[in-house]
Amino acid sequence: MTAFQSIMNIVRRRSIHVCYVDAGSCNGCGIEVLACLAPRYDIGQYGIVIHNNPREADILLVAGAFTPGWDDKLRILWDKIPAPKAAIAIGNCPQSGSVFNRRGSYIDPPVSKHIPVYANVSGCPPRPTEIIAAILAQIPKIFPDFKAEP
Ligand code: SF4
Repeated sequence: MTAFQSIMNIVRRRSIHVCYVDAGSCNGCGIEVLACLAPRYDIGQYGIVIHNNPREADILLVAGAFTPGWDDKLRILWDKIPAPKAAIAIGNCPQSGSVFNRRGSYIDPPVSKHIPVYANVSGCPPRPTEIIAAILAQIPKIFPDFKAEP
């Protein structure tokens, strides 16, 4: 069985819940997340559900350059997600602050300083296909019964 077939077997058995959070973005990344839900990319075909309830989530999807209002809140949100779990940072903002990183700016990237980030999806904004691929790539890490032949 290939890795992709194993991932598909897991998502057929149980939906993968993704909690999306915007930690201070221009909303460009959020629009790409919306595109993932639309028929062209149809993230639902992989059994992936995107919402904003951390208690039901397997994966945290973070966009934005981390504004001061998120100081303790992102960590609290991460702690509410039951283990096993993973966090993915999407866009250039969570890595570097991107266009918001100017002298005197109040943002505080990277997001990996505040919570453990398992994968970064670069781009300003990133492509929906790359967001979906990053979510699928986390499945073997958060489902211990994942089995695939090399
Ligand atoms: S990475 Fe680009 S599109 Fe995404 S929030 Fe930052 S500035 Fe906006």
